[in-house]
Amino acid sequence: MNALKKCHVKVGDNVAILSGKDKNKQGRIIALSPREGKAIVSGINKVKKHLKARKIGDDMGIIEVEAPIYTCKLQLICPKCNKQTRIAHRLNSKNIKVRVCKKCNNEISSR
Ligand SMILES: [Zn+2]
Repeated sequence: MNALKKCHVKVGDNVAILSGKDKNKQGRIIALSPREGKAIVSGINKVKKHLKARKIGDDMGIIEVEAPIYTCKLQLICPKCNKQTRIAHRLNSKNIKVRVCKKCNNEISSR
């Protein structure tokens, strides 16, 4: 695996899932782990976690949390044209590198 693979997605991006059990679902990226090449996407790749009772009388709970998913399984959804798209990089008028939707050619702002 190429660990240096550049992240094409950013926190706050809406993405579609390309493979796995959540294929074709969509969600928003809430965290990124660039070193692992993984992202946490809201509502995607949920796993059940068992909560241990810390003291007697506590409920043994099961919660669902989002597990990280490889960013290579994600495809950005362009906020302008609302389509799954690939991005290009371009310098804007201020000479800042920006992401551009390959479908509608609009700049995709990152937060
Ligand atoms: Zn677009």
